[in-house]
Amino acid sequence: MKAPRFAYTRVTTVADAVSLLRQHGDDARLLAGGQTLLATLNMRLSEPVVLVDITGIEALHGVAVQDGFLRIGALTRHVDIERSELVAQRLPLLTQAVPFLAHAAIRNRGTFGGSVAFADPAAEWPACALAADGELILSNGTNERRVMAGDFFIDLYQTDLHPDELIIAVEFPLPGRQRRFAFTELARRHGDYAIVGIAVAGDISGGVMGDLRIVFLGVGNTPMRALGAETALNGKRGDPAVLAAAIASLSEDIAPSDDLYTSAAAKSHLAGVLLQRAVKSLLHEGETP
Ligand SMILES: Cc1cc2nc3c(=O)[nH]c(=O)nc-3n(C[C@H](O)[C@H](O)[C@H](O)COP(=O)(O)OP(=O)(O)OC[C@H]3O[C@@H](n4cnc5c(N)ncnc54)[C@H](O)[C@@H]3O)c2cc1C
Repeated sequence: MKAPRFAYTRVTTVADAVSLLRQHGDDARLLAGGQTLLATLNMRLSEPVVLVDITGIEALHGVAVQDGFLRIGALTRHVDIERSELVAQRLPLLTQAVPFLAHAAIRNRGTFGGSVAFADPAAEWPACALAADGELILSNGTNERRVMAGDFFIDLYQTDLHPDELIIAVEFPLPGRQRRFAFTELARRHGDYAIVGIAVAGDISGGVMGDLRIVFLGVGNTPMRALGAETALNGKRGDPAVLAAAIASLSEDIAPSDDLYTSAAAKSHLAGVLLQRAVKSLLHEGETP
């Protein structure tokens, strides 16, 4: 199918983008990498009157370390993260996750901010943002506000973003020396959206886990933090009985549902398998989860 007719305009400032959002209301859509938006247009799932191309807003591009945070600009493409030495050194969780994200052609255009704004529950970046305690910076052209990732993802494809706001960047606290990360997922084919995935951050000291943040993707309406599993594993070494208790607690932590290909029961089982792999990788850094 072909997209419906729409007007196209390119802006170079946040203020101009917001002004168009206010002028056209629900008839306007921001266009970043277009890798989700154009597909929904082509399938006629969305029929906006005007597309506001924001890729010319220079301030939204790039990765930087400033004031103790790693800042990922909203228009940073997936491929830029994949190739960034800075990200690999300062927040390797993103480097571990990015090969799972779609295919090279999509990573060449799709953006970090577009993925976070779209909030697909099976997407990698929302789960990583939550696991690495990211904070979103949102702007309405006049004022900026900050929202923790844990408060941003509200429900299926629903976020705390206001209709006249843009995501400017996501900032992550720079991890300490003991902080380690693990990411893995299972998909029907490499590059497909995950059936189930997991992003984990935790401190490892003397083989003991602490301050864990365990987040699943694909098993609920939003990225799901597994607080029960975190409690079962914090302060522990990860021996079989501890892992079994953590896996058992997932029944309270996640809420998978049946889809065309995979039952909720199978997803629950796979979540346990991935938890086990991720914990092993966290404890034995460098081991592929
Ligand atoms: C075949 C295929 C496979 C894919 N597989 C995966 C996958 O495995 N994992 C995955 O995570 N993604 C996957 N994607 C989606 C891809 O990652 C997209 O790039 C991403 O979800 C959206 O980013 P974008 O820059 O392309 O946004 P766009 O498509 O341009 O926009 C998406 C939505 O976000 C809004 N938006 C964009 N930028 C901002 C901003 N700065 N502030 C506020 N709102 C904004 C837009 O208005 C729109 O509603 C896949 C896509 C395709 C086509």
